[in-house]
Amino acid sequence: DSAVKRPVIRQLDDAAINRIAAGEVVERPASAVKELVENAIDAGATRIEVAYADGGKTLIRVTDDGCGIAPDDLALAMSRHATSKIDGSDLLDIHTFGFRGEALPSLGAVGRLTITSRVEGHDAAMIRVAGGQMDPVKPAALSGGTVVELRDLFYATPARLKFLRTDRAEAQAISDVIKRLAMAEPQIGFTLRDVSGGGEGRVTFRADPETGDMFDALSGRLAAILGRDFAENAIPIDAEREGLRLTGFAALPTYSRGAAVAQFLFVNGRPVKDKLLTGALRAAYFDFLSRDRHPAAALFVSCDPHLVDVNVHPAKSEVRFREPGVARGLIVSGLRHALANVGHRASSTVAD
Ligand code: ADP
Ligand code: MG
Repeated sequence: DSAVKRPVIRQLDDAAINRIAAGEVVERPASAVKELVENAIDAGATRIEVAYADGGKTLIRVTDDGCGIAPDDLALAMSRHATSKIDGSDLLDIHTFGFRGEALPSLGAVGRLTITSRVEGHDAAMIRVAGGQMDPVKPAALSGGTVVELRDLFYATPARLKFLRTDRAEAQAISDVIKRLAMAEPQIGFTLRDVSGGGEGRVTFRADPETGDMFDALSGRLAAILGRDFAENAIPIDAEREGLRLTGFAALPTYSRGAAVAQFLFVNGRPVKDKLLTGALRAAYFDFLSRDRHPAAALFVSCDPHLVDVNVHPAKSEVRFREPGVARGLIVSGLRHALANVGHRASSTVAD
């Protein structure tokens, strides 16, 4: 007989498939926070509260006042590739943060997940999934919205647990995620609380219902997150090129930083970390800044969803523009123009 043992091909079970997917979707506690807060935003929430303990390793709880999940839909929401956000016919026609139907089953595969929710006209209900094992839906008490509680993230995948950094570093990453989403959604109120034993950190970004103007709302939110200093040193940006629009605030070169820590970029409302866009930002300030200084800015590129593919990576923080050159040109010329105008105004004021 042959010395080579023939390998056996088998279909993996759902729990294993979800654990594998979780490896891409949920890198660390902050990625779980991102997925859960994005779900709350997609649900139309006006207030979102995030509580966490031990850098999110032992507890993450996201409470929202959004539309809720009906009792009959809870088990479906927990299953893979089930989503209420797209019908699958046009994968570029994306208007929500979510659309892959992966976050909840992934989180339920690598941690202990409990969802309690209530929709208008139904009693509240809850479902629990731990290590991929789902319990039946049960009645619960909740006046409205959704509470998602994730305990012991990665307890089912100890290898991943080992790669987590200190509680402090993980908490910092969570705070970063909240800041970016809070910039993207200035009309939503956010609260972030550290509920670790002895921990009592609490940050709130209030929504100001008075400001109907998007620039006012954004500038207020940026002041709350980046400080008055940023707001006072930033100029509003509004430029357009071939179907792409650039809005937001960019700080004066004098307000630059020693590191690229205050650069926040968004594509169709989604926080992204994109080399093309950060490269364009650097290029825009090239004539205004010395090499070791970095510009500070919060910039929003918006366009028809068909002009940009957000389905590049499961975490969706990378995007691909159909016309990368247009996106780059918009940022470089839009910012240069605004910065040069400020220089003009300043010198003409002096001349006056
Ligand atoms: P996706 O966001 O890609 O649709 P998820 O696994 O994150 O996939 O969520 C699955 C579904 O569960 C969502 O499509 C939505 O219908 C529902 N859902 C999740 N979180 C919430 C929430 N906080 N409020 C209301 N519905 C929710
Ligand atoms: Mg989602």
